[in-house]
Amino acid sequence: MNNFSSLKKIIDEHNSFLLSTHVNPDADALGSELGFYLILKKLGKKVRIVNHSATPYNLEFLDEENVIEKFDETVHANVFDESEVFVLLDLNQGNRIVSMEKGFRAFKGLKVCIDHHQDTENVFDFIFGGIEYSATSEIIYDFIEETKIVELDTAIALQLYAGIMTDTGSFRFDRTSPRIHRIITELLEKGVSPTEVYDKIYDQFKFGRVKLLGEALSSIQLDSTQKIAYMIVTRDQLDQSGATEVDIDGFVNYCLTIQGVQIGILFYELKDGIKVSFRSKGEIPVSKLAKEFNGGGHTNASGIRLFNTTIEDVKEKIISAAQRYL
Ligand code: 5GP
Ligand code: MN
Repeated sequence: MNNFSSLKKIIDEHNSFLLSTHVNPDADALGSELGFYLILKKLGKKVRIVNHSATPYNLEFLDEENVIEKFDETVHANVFDESEVFVLLDLNQGNRIVSMEKGFRAFKGLKVCIDHHQDTENVFDFIFGGIEYSATSEIIYDFIEETKIVELDTAIALQLYAGIMTDTGSFRFDRTSPRIHRIITELLEKGVSPTEVYDKIYDQFKFGRVKLLGEALSSIQLDSTQKIAYMIVTRDQLDQSGATEVDIDGFVNYCLTIQGVQIGILFYELKDGIKVSFRSKGEIPVSKLAKEFNGGGHTNASGIRLFNTTIEDVKEKIISAAQRYL
């Protein structure tokens, strides 16, 4: 399905590129973005990475040269007009870039999507990837592998390793295939240290994050079927712990460590609304559940953002909706 030669052609025929990824970027978002950036740089292209969110502190090591810019409407007023191609990585819906959405919708050049989520918005000129990919970083690997557009060096390998390692749940989720391990073999042979990458991403958290995790774990409840576990993180808890929103990433996975539980839900208060994260086991499509509330994601990991509401207002409704998927 992928026609990577047309992606190569887009690169050959254009000179200035703007890259962006989703709100609250994870290691696959940043790894695919920086991996693609490094390819374009090697080819002498003009490239900027501008994201809605700041880079989470545990992922800053990926942006070694500090090239990622945080979107600011005044500073970046011309960034859209100065780019011929706008590439969105690890997302497939315009609203996932939040403050940059307006600029994206009005963008006059080529809109390119490189992604592995479901339900791609009908807004792109070109789409590369597909839901069969474990990570957007794997798509970038395939692109290099197939077109040989640049040599896969250590710097690119580090980005792609970080993306694939995290999006496969450290090589345990569904799409962890023999092929993934073969790709990983090659990335390690390029000099990536798995110990170092894992340690930086997962074993260097702030003290407050671990304390907040304790609160989240204490809040865990089971629904009437005992197949859904949910936890809540309030704004007060967040503020008092000294942790930040990025620290909450990963909490919801603990719901699925309970025997018999098939769906995990995390509710947490944003500054201006709430965020709900869903995780599931097996065939349960929480992407569809999230879609019911205008969210999205993958079969086993999805999320939604709701504004002008509270956790108390929506909790029962969301749990009832989730029960229909058991
Ligand atoms: P997380 O719960 O880790 O934030 O997100 C899990 C998955 O759901 C991610 O792959 C992400 O793309 C998707 N997701 C999370 N929140 C939203 C949202 O508000 N809208 C959409 N469309 N997808 C989301
Ligand atoms: Mn991803």
